Amino acid sequence: MTLPLVSTVLLDVQSLQVEFPSQGPPLRAVDGVSFTVANGETVCLVGESGCGKSLTALALLRLVPEPGRIGPSSRLHFEGVDVLALASEPLRQLRGRRMAMIFQEPMTALNPVRTVGDQIAEVVRAHTQRSKREAWQDAVKMLALVGIADPDARARQYPHELSGGMRQRVMIAMALVLDPQLLIADEPTTALDVTIQAQILELLREMRERTGMALLLITHDLGVVAEMASRVLVMYGGRIVEEAPVDALFAHAAHPYSQGLLAAMPRLHVSSGSTADAEVDVDTVDEPERLATIGGSVPALGSFPTGCAFRDRCPLAWERCAKEEPPLYQVGPAHRARCHLVQERPSENLKLTGAGDQA
Ligand code: SF4
Repeated sequence: MTLPLVSTVLLDVQSLQVEFPSQGPPLRAVDGVSFTVANGETVCLVGESGCGKSLTALALLRLVPEPGRIGPSSRLHFEGVDVLALASEPLRQLRGRRMAMIFQEPMTALNPVRTVGDQIAEVVRAHTQRSKREAWQDAVKMLALVGIADPDARARQYPHELSGGMRQRVMIAMALVLDPQLLIADEPTTALDVTIQAQILELLREMRERTGMALLLITHDLGVVAEMASRVLVMYGGRIVEEAPVDALFAHAAHPYSQGLLAAMPRLHVSSGSTADAEVDVDTVDEPERLATIGGSVPALGSFPTGCAFRDRCPLAWERCAKEEPPLYQVGPAHRARCHLVQERPSENLKLTGAGDQA
């Protein structure tokens, strides 16, 4: 198993909570999430919609939408700085310069009535002493770096004049123009078609290698995880239910939810004589298998069962799961899972298979 190189911790998140007021006690959409991201590392946060991954990302930048708030037990340090204690000006500097974020749908993040060059230049001007002309030059240079042909002309265009893939490149240019240490990318390829998705992932990988930044990638797509991550955090019900180096998760996921996500991943099956790594010959590709699904859906906030939050959907649940909430059990080096089976059947927990129903 390849473990990530131990290097300086860049982001340290401990017991993060995001809560919303209710008639009774606050409802926790993110409940005690702890993880770190090291310099230069790519960590993927995975789960279905509603599991709390996007709110976790927004909380890192203190952008939780009202009436939500970051809960009192949360601790959040970036490069050793207590982010939750920052006043508004240093927080603004941190957000633009050191930590940047890109979203799923660039049209909602870009200003439709300003040229893309202006919008990138404005980010430069807001955080540096660069002149207007220099900031514009930075914007054009950045557009070229993210692979936009004829960047001078493109910089003068408005978002609606660009394709979806190009708009996402503009968002990446805007996020990276100040050379941040950490890029948080929330489902950056979900709104794009498959070919463009691959190009944007490749661009993110290239930019990460070129700049040495760390990447926190939020996705529901395990294909993206396999391509990009060194470490994976699987979220369910506002909690991390499994964390593992990427190869450990794909080889032997220990939590039934992670197993369900893996079983739901489309794969090509290639007949004997070919290998998965070889160039695929269409004549040797078998009929695709029916995909497994995870039974049920993510409950509404406040409606998760007692004990294990995944219990209502878990095909392996038994009495203990209703009575006790599982802690994160150690499965292997840097590999932990929030499932009692890890403790109950330690010799078997690496072989659990078959969560979910056949579609
Ligand atoms: Fe399933 Fe129980 Fe494990 Fe929860 S603790 S994932 S219900 S087996």
